[in-house]
Amino acid sequence: MTSTLSQKQILDALSKVNDPELHRSLTELKMVRKVEIRGDVVEIELAITLPNCPFRAQIESEARTAVRALPGVKEVVLHTGTMTDKERQALMGASAEGTAAKYNHIQHVVAVMSGKGGVGKSLVAGLLASALVQQGYRVGILDADITGPSIPMLFGLQGPPEHGPVGLRPLESRGGLKVMSMNFLLANEDQPIIWRGPLIGKAITQLWGDVMWGDLDYLLVDLPPGTSDAALSTMQSLPVRGIVMVTTPQGLAAMIVRKAVHMAQAVGVSILGVVENMAYFQCPDTGKQHFIFGPSHATEVTLTAKAPMLAQLPIDPTLAALCDAGKIEEVILSEMPGLLDAFTRAIPVQIRE
Ligand code: ADP
Repeated sequence: MTSTLSQKQILDALSKVNDPELHRSLTELKMVRKVEIRGDVVEIELAITLPNCPFRAQIESEARTAVRALPGVKEVVLHTGTMTDKERQALMGASAEGTAAKYNHIQHVVAVMSGKGGVGKSLVAGLLASALVQQGYRVGILDADITGPSIPMLFGLQGPPEHGPVGLRPLESRGGLKVMSMNFLLANEDQPIIWRGPLIGKAITQLWGDVMWGDLDYLLVDLPPGTSDAALSTMQSLPVRGIVMVTTPQGLAAMIVRKAVHMAQAVGVSILGVVENMAYFQCPDTGKQHFIFGPSHATEVTLTAKAPMLAQLPIDPTLAALCDAGKIEEVILSEMPGLLDAFTRAIPVQIRE
């Protein structure tokens, strides 16, 4: 019997197998080095991106199954090697934006901003991210607070991150949130970063473009306080869909946060909503609410921002203790009435299976 199998058939079959991390086919990624047909035996040589690629077995099994399913194939002999530096370079191509960015699919980038430090901006970013993950969304946090990163500590994460084929792999929290922070790249996390504005901006664009975020519904960007270079770089270089503005009840906080609102308006990024943190303290003994920072000025912020109040969060010592222990994902979400609903209503995405 003469073989009717052709190289094209084999390559077509392999073009339906995707690298699970890069979401491109083996043929498009030039991972198929050689195909040989000897009667009903097909011999294939694949080149995976890195020797320690965690998806090697999956790629091999799917390639074998795809080719084996072709009529006339009895046996598939598979050899797997690793790409040379040159081959990997070709795969990465030249991209001004960063190589990983070409392979990322991020539906919505949302910045969490405050203008003023210490109001609980990172805490709100962390709570919102873990609440979204618990709802089944795919979420990442880019810690753009380069000089004062607190996201790693909230989630109990430590670097260094692994190198993937086209960039750095984000760390994953216990709940499945993807996290990347400049802190992961420091030899010692107590080491300060003493950089001027342009370098900070560059670091943020790298945390965006050189990190393998993969497929995400939401990427939250935790901005440093203020209306400085970091905030400006983020809003100008990343496709920010909107901002969650965090404030506290005090008049001083509200005044500074209003500056941040004006900045966002000046660069044309809309404010999705305002979160008032430390709005009150509920006494565990009497249930009475005490307004530690005085009466709320948050409505002034919502009026300036022309945005709704997403939530008013209490001062809660348990919250502080969980944050210090790196267990922010254990916070009971009913303590944040409305935050999640209001957020997903403001920027809805379809939860995928
Ligand atoms: P920012 O990002 O605005 O500088 P953080 O989010 O890092 O502020 O908050 C600093 C710390 O303050 C948190 O790690 C947490 O321990 C504490 N904190 C913030 N908000 C609350 C709150 N509502 N209740 C108790 N502690 C809080």
